[in-house]
Amino acid sequence: MEKSKNNSLYEFISSTSNEGFRYVNYETGYVIASARWRELFGIEKGKENDESSFKDILFKEDREKFRDKIERILGKQEENYEIEYRIKDGTTWIAHTGTHKYDKEGILIEKFSFFRDITKEKEKQLELEYMAYFDADTGVYNRNYFIKRLDRAIGKVLGGIYKRIQVMYLHIDNFNVVYDSIGFERGDELLIKFAKLLLQYSSHVVKVGRFSNNEFAIALYDAETENEIVDIYNDITDKLLTPFILSDGNEIYINVSAGITSYPEGGLNATELIKCADIAMYNVKRNSKNSMCIFEESMLNKFLKNVKLEKQLKIAVENLNFVLYYQPQYYAGRNELRGVEALIRWKINENEFVNPGDFIPMAEKNGCIVDIGEWVIRKALEDFVDWKMNYGYNGMISINISAVQLKDPDFSKLLTKYVKDKNVLPSDVEIEITESVLIQDFDITTKTLSELRKIGFKVSLDDFGTGYSSLSYLKNIPIDTLKIDKSFIDTVLTDTSTGIITDAVIKMVKQLGLETIAEGVETEEQYEYLKKVNCDNIQGFLLGKPMDSASIIELIKKLNDRY
Ligand code: C2E
Ligand code: CA
Ligand code: CA
Repeated sequence: MEKSKNNSLYEFISSTSNEGFRYVNYETGYVIASARWRELFGIEKGKENDESSFKDILFKEDREKFRDKIERILGKQEENYEIEYRIKDGTTWIAHTGTHKYDKEGILIEKFSFFRDITKEKEKQLELEYMAYFDADTGVYNRNYFIKRLDRAIGKVLGGIYKRIQVMYLHIDNFNVVYDSIGFERGDELLIKFAKLLLQYSSHVVKVGRFSNNEFAIALYDAETENEIVDIYNDITDKLLTPFILSDGNEIYINVSAGITSYPEGGLNATELIKCADIAMYNVKRNSKNSMCIFEESMLNKFLKNVKLEKQLKIAVENLNFVLYYQPQYYAGRNELRGVEALIRWKINENEFVNPGDFIPMAEKNGCIVDIGEWVIRKALEDFVDWKMNYGYNGMISINISAVQLKDPDFSKLLTKYVKDKNVLPSDVEIEITESVLIQDFDITTKTLSELRKIGFKVSLDDFGTGYSSLSYLKNIPIDTLKIDKSFIDTVLTDTSTGIITDAVIKMVKQLGLETIAEGVETEEQYEYLKKVNCDNIQGFLLGKPMDSASIIELIKKLNDRY
């Protein structure tokens, strides 16, 4: 009587439940299931008690997990349990909540189960997991997950499971240029294709991660040989000899720079390993690009020294701990100043100076150069006015201008304002730019330079002979003066071809109406030679090293006394 009352209750639940419901009484053999349960599992009415067909419906890969779990529940005589599994082809997820009733001997007598389709929730969860672990664009590990897995792999090396770990940090060279030329969409497509190339190496012990837009990493958890990662690098570069073909038909070649390190030499955890591989990669960038470099301790020391220097530089910029030195430029063959070139020094303390070569490139990279450059212009003009007003100086002032400064579209306005404020004639001011400045954004730069020349400023091309040094383009660029680099002057007497080239350059430059200055003249012989080939002006240690403003004043006085 009791049982039949319950049975009607189960019938009621089963007919009204929106969820899958199934009840089994093992004592009586009574089984009832809701229509939704039959629908979920695809079981016909009347077949509710066929447990073996239910097992067939379970997704293959989840069967063992399901069986283990049920055995454990029965073994422990647990009453309530919850289990999630997939059914059919694995695309449908079921959340199964059950209640077991046992008799005194521990035999299962009754089972109530509720089944819910949780496929949508599962998909959402998997998507979130995916987002937490993978880079959405390329499908490789994201930074966090790459690091987490690498740390886990380090644990396995310590546990003797893996042999050795090697890490490679990869950077696509000049990617900005590629991006600019093919656009964002094609650029992203290229990145996806590159990531796919890297994924070819992926396995359960080789993982690929993305660290920034065009920076990737590969970790070998269980490298077979000392050089396995180098072999992979070589293989990648071989593959890159073939272009990527984009959906618009464009063929794009890319180069990569790579830094390589291994555990434990390059660090005791994943973050340290990545950092050291990154430092090694930067070493490549600084020198050549399109190559690879294996991390060494000395690189880390250099890096740390640079980090310290960069911090100090920022403080120096705030406190303006700089001084300007000036190097005289003489008219060739005359003891008369054509001008002076302002050369900055960073004053660490009363006796210690840092040369510009050691901090200007850093300042250009982190943007400090804008503030430094403005200070240089103002200070140089201030000293120039002092010499002119108080000591009768009538030469020019040359100021080095960095590419970063020249990129500012308001640069010519700024310079004009400074000279106006100090009542200086633009024609007394010469700006020195290098070829590399000119080559970057050629159109914009030449426009700014033309503007400056129209106002009356002089423009000088510095370090000629070290960069592209193409004579043919000289006639098309808005300059007044050409400075022949020290490297030419150094060998002008010893190397016949340098001599011939220098001679030819000076002749041609003169025909173009440009003035010439020879830089880094250190010997009388060089001076004599340069005079002979009609070089206009001479600058170098022979005639004067860079010196402070007070020494320039002394020099002006001395030279004035002679006339
Ligand atoms: P630069 O413009 O080519 O300057 C010439 C460099 O050669 C100076 O080095 C000068 O001291 C050195 N020099 C001149 N004559 C001789 C010589 O006869 N023998 C030898 N061995 N060296 C000579 P410095 O002052 O160390 O400057 C290095 C570079 O730093 C400069 O090369 C310039 O590119 C940059 N720089 C200096 N001051 C500034 C500045 O105010 N702004 C910017 N943007 N760059 C600057
Ligand atoms: Ca210069
Ligand atoms: Ca120079």
